[in-house]
Amino acid sequence: MTTSDHEQRVIDENVVPRLQIGGEWRDASSGASFGVEDPATGRVLCRVSDATEEDALAALDAASRAQAAWADHPPRERGEILRRAWQLLIERRDDLALLMTLEMGKPLAESRTEITYGAEFLRWFSEEAVRIDGRWSREPGGSGRLLTMKHPVGPCLLITPWNFPLAMGTRKIGPAIAAGCTMVLKPAQLTPLSMLALARVLEEVGLPAGVLNVIPSTSASRTAGAVMADPRLRKVSFTGSTPVGRTLMAQASQNLLRMSMELGGNAPFVVFEDADLDRAIEGAVIAKMRNIGESCVAANRFLVAEAVAEEFAAGLAAKMGSLRMGRGTEPEADVGPLIDEDQRSKVTELVEDAVGRGGKVLAGGGRREGAGYFFEPTVIGAVPDDSKILSEEVFGPVAPVTAFGTEDEGVARANGTEYGLVAYVFTRDLERALRVVEGLEVGMIGLNRGLVSNPAAPFGGVKQSGFGREGGREGIEEYLSTKYVAVDTGE
Ligand code: NAP
Repeated sequence: MTTSDHEQRVIDENVVPRLQIGGEWRDASSGASFGVEDPATGRVLCRVSDATEEDALAALDAASRAQAAWADHPPRERGEILRRAWQLLIERRDDLALLMTLEMGKPLAESRTEITYGAEFLRWFSEEAVRIDGRWSREPGGSGRLLTMKHPVGPCLLITPWNFPLAMGTRKIGPAIAAGCTMVLKPAQLTPLSMLALARVLEEVGLPAGVLNVIPSTSASRTAGAVMADPRLRKVSFTGSTPVGRTLMAQASQNLLRMSMELGGNAPFVVFEDADLDRAIEGAVIAKMRNIGESCVAANRFLVAEAVAEEFAAGLAAKMGSLRMGRGTEPEADVGPLIDEDQRSKVTELVEDAVGRGGKVLAGGGRREGAGYFFEPTVIGAVPDDSKILSEEVFGPVAPVTAFGTEDEGVARANGTEYGLVAYVFTRDLERALRVVEGLEVGMIGLNRGLVSNPAAPFGGVKQSGFGREGGREGIEEYLSTKYVAVDTGE
């Protein structure tokens, strides 16, 4: 069997390339479909049904019909469904990782890590499903009792991006299932296959019809707009860019929908002169290069104390320069292609701007010609403060390094962005570490480490990076509402 036969078999065995609505796999009402491309070759992998507004409303019909029975479903059984889905994802990890690499481009090892990470949200929330509780307390004046209880929010619209094709879905679907909410999910049009494979897994493990409805579409604004205008919808959970998040917030105001917003980032990676530099460089490669830099938590700006800035930049350049580019299916590939030409052009423009203003290229620096949207792992030293790359989300394998003087200056520059998702801090001084983590305006911090994502931890941001948390004990609260009952005990 040639590799491409194997790839085709994996696609065919794991994906029904249609809409999943009310427990049925349907063609789009228009009969239309769209091609999903391999970003390493430009080849169309398969064609997927292209949902219309009518299909989106049919998905909401199915979700609304299923809501009451699903809310009544025993929490233990909701948890068991999630647990079985976790197990099946792990059993099929190699196939699902290949599917992800084919549609998104990241190296197979990273796709396997995402399958494990994404599946873990299902296991984590399988354990949370049975821990939804309320409170019973005495009214402070002593004349009655206060009872609170939790209910599922109701039908939810989930919208996911292309960069983590599985995990961005499971961290919404896991808590929604655990809480007893039904869903309409619109995956990114560039990477719908992983979500369709997950829908199939959930069907196999017994998720009732209509609980999860999946509608790949090339008309996101129309399909999402139709669902959001319908009063039966109760909540929107969105992961994607800040501008689209703002548009959705405005639309959601009409029906006062509950919202969770996981938006863009511009993560500072702050290295103090007392840091363990080898460890900082190792952390920097992880924080920068995970997902080819196409991550909301990717380190975007490397702010390094003047005394060690040159040494850090040289060490990072040596590591980044030694990474090998290749199609993600090649075992020796460390770095895959970017998702598409738009993304590559944006990265190119940011690099050219920084170099044009006086930044020094220490590794990489440009695109690789030929098939696929490859861009070299790049380090730019002495990046001038007015460079666009310091204020915009790069979303690619480019590390701009710039120096700072005092601790206060380092923190002020780290906070000097409209975003507030994550920051990374490297220091061996405990008191400084505590001062700095308190002062950073972000939702998450990696202290002496380059990776924060963990299904057991609350993921999310502040400022223009959004609000709401995914994962951890907090994650399920996004899908629950609280009802309070004032009880007269006749005292
Ligand atoms: P995007 O363009 O905002 O798209 C995200 C999703 O929204 C896609 O499914 C997209 O559909 C859909 N969409 C686009 N316009 C819409 C509209 N008007 N109404 C309803 N849905 C709409 O973002 P992206 O380029 O896919 O992803 C990259 C961004 O996501 C980056 O900014 C990154 O930082 C952010 N992100 C944040 C987190 C986090 O947890 N904070 C995690 C991952 C990524 P189409 O696919 O059809 O365009």
